[in-house]
Amino acid sequence: MVEFKNRSSYADWRREALDELCLRETDEAGVPERVLQVVWQHQRLRDDLRLCDGRSVRVLHPGFWNHGAGPDFRKAVVAIEGEEVLRGDVEVDVEPAGWHAHGHDRNPSFANTILRVVWSAPETAREPWLCLRDQLDAPWPKLREWALREPPGELPDRLRGVCCEPLKRLTAGQLDGLLNEAGIVRLEGKAAHFEALARARGWEAALMIGLVSGLGYKRNAWPMRRVAEAMLLLDRSKARAAEREEMTLALMLGISGFMPHEWSAEDRRRSDYLSRLWSLWWRLREDADEFKMPIVVWQLGGVRPVNRPERRLALAARWLADDGLIRRIEDWSRGDSKPAVAARELMALLGPTNESFWEDRCTFVAGPMPGRVPLLGRSRLNELAVNTVLPWLHARARAGRNRALVRRVEQLFLTWPKAEDNAVLRLARRRLLGETSAGCLRGAGQQQGLLQIVRDFCARTDALCTDCPFPAYAGSLAESGARE
Ligand code: SF4
Repeated sequence: MVEFKNRSSYADWRREALDELCLRETDEAGVPERVLQVVWQHQRLRDDLRLCDGRSVRVLHPGFWNHGAGPDFRKAVVAIEGEEVLRGDVEVDVEPAGWHAHGHDRNPSFANTILRVVWSAPETAREPWLCLRDQLDAPWPKLREWALREPPGELPDRLRGVCCEPLKRLTAGQLDGLLNEAGIVRLEGKAAHFEALARARGWEAALMIGLVSGLGYKRNAWPMRRVAEAMLLLDRSKARAAEREEMTLALMLGISGFMPHEWSAEDRRRSDYLSRLWSLWWRLREDADEFKMPIVVWQLGGVRPVNRPERRLALAARWLADDGLIRRIEDWSRGDSKPAVAARELMALLGPTNESFWEDRCTFVAGPMPGRVPLLGRSRLNELAVNTVLPWLHARARAGRNRALVRRVEQLFLTWPKAEDNAVLRLARRRLLGETSAGCLRGAGQQQGLLQIVRDFCARTDALCTDCPFPAYAGSLAESGARE
């Protein structure tokens, strides 16, 4: 650890501290992979690049840094001598052997890799690898020093989208208007999904399926949905009369595959509550057996204990067992509270009304967690409001031709508190708006608007914005603003 003592300045200390951080990532070749990724992202390379096989290569776009699993850069565009322009992923390794050593050759996520970038390769190598060591635009020590200072993932200014310049010319009011309009498009898209679901299953079932699926996050939305659908079918047949919360949860845990097969006398002594759930499932299971899912449908790798599906199912069981919940949500939507207050009110409706056994449990068999964590946090509530409750209310109000309620829901959507920042939003802000600060978007509606533009246009073209019509639209808006 670099110490503060006897350092002449922050700059000196910082240089050593960053060197130390960098050393931790350094492999045998003495080159940190992260530094190579920064060099690649900013293209600190000569203009006349050549692959190890001798062919020239032009990097039309380095792609977007992927900080998750999979290749290091997505959506790159490169032109290799003698080939069509290639669009796909780029993997950066210190040495060519890293490709096999890290299992990329067997990993389907790397199937769309169009270029392998390495620091150095044997002189005899004739593969289509791009070797950086002798093709940098500055001496390595200087470049390394610079790369260490660059925050990871910062998008260089010159890689902004083509629409960034015309969007910058919009007045603040025009940009707000554009993002709000795009936000409403997104709301209507989500509402259309609920309208279709309601046609097939009924309005109440559509909302409940949306709410329970939303508790599965991205990874487990489908199994959560299947559990909700099974419960709604069971509710309509036999279990309705006996619809107490424990019974609902016992069925959900059994259907989902999380109920243990065995429950010993010792287990019984540990918890009366869990024993009751277990006994209920084994009593009711005949009715629900046809819906039972194998545990493999759940993606549990990397799920934090507090986000375990069992805890989500416990909350969902409360909703499903509460006959008055949907009516109360509709009453809430007709209120006139300001968005921040309305958000608290919705939390009070959807959050557990009294202490839950599951606040310090993550699975059926694990012991208590060190602390209690509510089953519904603010960020999940925001997701549920923006993706489920408000779109469902919008669809329902439109179906009932209730214009005042449509306007009220749209207003709530546009001014709803912002959702947590994420990598897609960060990249979109930087690329389209040239802004790094999350504060440039006023509420969840504008976040949704920006995501809608990304979905409508960025997702349909490449990183060079080829043939994207959006810059022309933004330009025409800017000109009309200038004329006014
Ligand atoms: S693809 Fe279109 S919308 Fe996306 S950044 Fe490029 S110009 Fe903008």
